[in-house]
Amino acid sequence: MTSNLKNINEKIRTAEEKSGRNEGDVTLVAVSKVHVAETIRPVLEAGQRIFGENRVQEAAEKWPAMKEDFDDVVLHLIGPLQTNKVRQAIHLFDVIETVDRPKLARALARIFKEENKYCDVYVQVNTGMENQKAGINPEDADEFIALCRDELGLNVTGVMCIPPFDEDPTDHFKLLKSIADRNNIEIISMGMSGDFEKAIEHGATHVRVGTAVFGKRPGY
Ligand SMILES: *Cc1c(COP(=O)(O)O)cnc(C)c1O
Repeated sequence: MTSNLKNINEKIRTAEEKSGRNEGDVTLVAVSKVHVAETIRPVLEAGQRIFGENRVQEAAEKWPAMKEDFDDVVLHLIGPLQTNKVRQAIHLFDVIETVDRPKLARALARIFKEENKYCDVYVQVNTGMENQKAGINPEDADEFIALCRDELGLNVTGVMCIPPFDEDPTDHFKLLKSIADRNNIEIISMGMSGDFEKAIEHGATHVRVGTAVFGKRPGY
């Protein structure tokens, strides 16, 4: 696992260089979903601090103990968030990457205030307009981002997408980058184990890499 981490970080640096980005422009979010603490701890010990989880309940079971030992861990929620889990989620996660509908945005705004605990949020865009997939449709993204920022006061620092699995992701990466640029959003979360180098070429600032760091997920 530790050698995987080193390998990925080297590939990220090479991709940064190749695409004319500055060294360190791109942040690795190590996706530790499904993996147990014994698998995650060596990666923490090797220096990785930014992790992604896709389920609130799973993160609540795994991370508090690890956070006690590594108090500078930064956790990103990268899976769908139900409004009834918002209160729990905002105490566990530093960044919510999957804000994709007004109802959720309103719940976050309200509960941030109630709890006096604020997270950065990314707007998830369904670049492939897939029916079953989460995310705001691309043509509604500008309006939704404006709602989040101007009306609800959310700190929208990023956008994220999960391109359709069976397509070349290039056009999806370009689309997400264009939405970020015209909304003055700096963080672009795109690219996974199979395509993070391509995502960096197209402007990713954050890549979410699971399998290439931790190996195959158990049970998958
Ligand atoms: C699981 C997951 C990843 C990581 O996928 P890998 O192919 O294992 O790198 C990235 N983003 C999201 C939203 C995920 O759910």
